[in-house]
Order: sequence, then C-alpha cells, then structure tokens
Amino acid sequence: MAERLSAVKGMNDILPPESARWEWLEAIVREQMGRFAYRNVRTPVLEHTALFVRGIGEVTDIVEKEMYSFEDRLNGEQLTLRPENTASVVRAVTEHSLLYDGGKRLWYMGPMFRHERPQRGRYRQFHQIGAEALGFAGPDVDAELILLARSLWKALGLADVRLELNSLGQPAERALHRAQLIAHFEQHAGQLDEDAKRRLHSNPLRILDTKNPAMKDIVESAPKLMDFLGAESLAHFNGLRSILDANGVDYSINPRLVRGLDYYNLSVFEFVTDRLGAQGTVCAGGRYDDLIVQIGGKAAPAVGWAIGVERVLELLKEQGSEIPQPVPDVYAVVPYAAAMPVALRTLQQLREAGVRAQMHAATAEGLGSFKSQFKKADASGAAFALIFGADELARGEVTVKSLRDGAGAQVGRPLAHPAAWAGTLQSPAPSASPATPGRSHIAPPSAQGTPTN
Ligand code: ATP
Ligand code: MG
Repeated sequence: MAERLSAVKGMNDILPPESARWEWLEAIVREQMGRFAYRNVRTPVLEHTALFVRGIGEVTDIVEKEMYSFEDRLNGEQLTLRPENTASVVRAVTEHSLLYDGGKRLWYMGPMFRHERPQRGRYRQFHQIGAEALGFAGPDVDAELILLARSLWKALGLADVRLELNSLGQPAERALHRAQLIAHFEQHAGQLDEDAKRRLHSNPLRILDTKNPAMKDIVESAPKLMDFLGAESLAHFNGLRSILDANGVDYSINPRLVRGLDYYNLSVFEFVTDRLGAQGTVCAGGRYDDLIVQIGGKAAPAVGWAIGVERVLELLKEQGSEIPQPVPDVYAVVPYAAAMPVALRTLQQLREAGVRAQMHAATAEGLGSFKSQFKKADASGAAFALIFGADELARGEVTVKSLRDGAGAQVGRPLAHPAAWAGTLQSPAPSASPATPGRSHIAPPSAQGTPTN
C-alpha cells in the first residue's frame, strides 16, 4: 500500500457532521450582514508579501514570525498566504477605486494562515469573518459595527461574551505616551521578560498586551494612553460610548487593550470570553484611518473587526448548543434495478418542487435487500420513504411511507404529477435557535421552508 498522506499540521479538515455547524453559522452571518446592508467581498488568499509587511507593520507578531511567505519559483515573486484580510480588502478597495462615490460597507469570510503553535483555538489555517466600513470617520460607524457583532451573537445564541473598549488616540498622542511608557518599563527593567525587552524600543505598546502573569504589576501601573488623548480623540471615544449607552450595550474600558496589528487608531475593541482559556478573544477590531494611505491609496478613514470562527464555534459547543444536522425529506427505496430510471426521474421532479430527496445507490454488492434499504432510509433521518416497488409502479404509483410521526402510515401517490403532492413531503421550517436540537435544512430564517416551485 502507498504511504498514507495527512493534512498539514495545524490545518483542519471540516467534515460532516461538524460542517453542518459551519453552514448554519455562515447562513446566519449572511442574513445579518444583509440586515446591516454590508456587501460581500472576496479577495485572493495569496498576496504580495509587501502588502502585509507595510499594512500590518514590521514589528508585529504576525509579520515577525507568523507569515507563510515564500518565493514563487516560477517567477521569483515574493508571496504570502494572507494572515488576515483587512490589508487585502484595503488593497482591493484602493486598486478598484471603490470609494469614488462614497463610503462602502463590506464583509468577508474565509481562511487565514499563520504559522503559530497549534493548540485549542489557535490553528495554522483558521477562518475569519470580517466587516469593514471604509470612508466613514465618525464614531457612529464604530458603534454600528459593534451592534452588528452583538446582533450576530444574539442570532447565534452565543452567551458569555463581553465587550472591552479602548482608544489608541492618534499617532502624535501615542508618541507622547510612548516616551513615558518606555521610561516606566526601563525603571522596572528587572521585571521585563524576554519578549518585553525585545519590544521595549520597537513596539512598547504591545508589552501592555502581555499574557505573562509575572508582568501584571508593571503593566497595570504603566502610564495609560487614555490620559494622553487630546480633545478630538476624547470626543470620538465619548461619542462611541454614548451611542453604545443609548443602545444598552454593556462594555468595560480596558486601558491595556492595544491590539496586535500596527494600523489601529482611536477606537479599538474586543469581544472576549472566559470559557476558552487563553484563546478568549472571539472578535477583535478597531479604527484604522491611516492604513489606506500606507497601502498607497487616497486617504480615507475606516473601521472594522474580525471574528475567529473556530473560537465562536468552540464557544457554542462549550455552551452545549446542538449541531443542526441537515436531513433529506425523502429517501427512495428501490427494490430492483429496473425501477431506477423511474425512481430517479421522480426524485428529480420532487427536487425541482423543493423537496430534499436522497436516492438509494447500489454498492459493489448491488442494491441490497428491501430490509437493508429501509434501514438506510431510517438512518438518513428522512421523514418519508418512497417505495418504488413493482406492484405500485404497475399501478402508476409510488408508495409514500412515513418514517417518523405516525411511522408506518402509507399512501399511494401518482407518478405522473409528483409536484402535486410534493408539498406533503416537506418538513415544517425548523427553529432558528441553535439550542434546539432536531431537523434543520440550514437556511437563514427568512429562507427556511420556502419551496422553490
Ligand atoms: P491572539 O492575541 O489570540 O493571537 P490576534 O490579536 O493575533 O489574537 P487578530 O489578528 O486580531 O488576532 O484576529 C482576530 C481574531 O481571529 C482573533 O480574535 C481570534 O478570534 C482569531 N484568530 C487569530 N489568530 C488565530 C489562530 N491562529 N487560530 C484561530 N483563530 C485565530
Ligand atoms: Mg496572534
């Protein structure tokens, strides 16, 4: 036998039944993005390395040690698998002059790649859902994005996430703070870990983001950026807070919230949970008014966030919410091969009328006995078996046998017009609540149970 190949470390296959949870989540996300009038963008997973080096910043974790960068041996180009998508969205918006007629609200979902040590909630290929509002300066859009994330948590039934807020001010304000921050850390140089020492002069703000408990005290006593903000930055921050307050959004202000990417200014925020250990940030974002210029575009303000999909799904699992599994409405039982053409034609007509229909396929051993086919029909979760037996076919009929409620009840239906009785086979719209176990066809609430005929 040939050697068995496996997936790349830290990169996961998403298979049934788990993939149902992903489809369910994606449908809810699409629905919510539509309600907020955000439009979908899809950018390539591969970009020029320079985009991320310039966009994310040379002295960040991502660019320093996490990127999958390589030279394309066919043409010598320096390429990188995207570690995040904001830089790519900004590149696309700039390249296609999307802001020529005003601001744009965009969203994406897809895989991102970072060479990190794989552990729970941290993978080398992971998935983000992101929302970006470009061309809008005010705190109103910052608030809108936070409300959008909150709506998502509600639609997903996600509990136990709290919002943390901070303001990073503007570059000049950060420069003032930075000098005092370095002085503070130099005074306590003995307590700095290796990471902090390395960052002391390159990116001292990031020291505040340390996960090292030994540094807790010196981080907590450090000068707070908030105290260095001028009137304009404060007005922006207070503007955001008053909209959140008016909407009953709970949050706490975390002066140590600095974010790992260089491009942020003013509002930054994270949704965090205590239920996922150290990997507790499920959504992170903020304002990045200077990024477009850095990437070579015409100056425009912007704000956005990204959700870590694996962490959200993990949290839902932790909460014990069931995976809604897709099941067919009907399963065709075909006792002998000569009935197959009629069976397939009927299933096809039913599908066109909106019914989810699974055919019984032969294995190398043939179609299998009537009894074994029935077992498969039952295991499929279908509500009905359609029996294409010789007697009923001779009458121009198929037998519809109930497998669930009132199991055993059966009725003959004419083969001539499947669309006429297709409606009797469709299960009622499942509940949108993720906490409700049972049948689901994984459609957003508005599309559920809508026949396509
Ligand atoms: P962390 O501090 O956990 O490393 P980060 O600051 O690097 O997070 P961002 O770049 O802001 O994270 O990405 C946004 C979100 O994407 C994170 O809050 C997290 O939910 C998710 N995320 C980031 N890196 C990974 C990863 N390697 N695996 C799974 N999810 C990730
Ligand atoms: Mg990280």
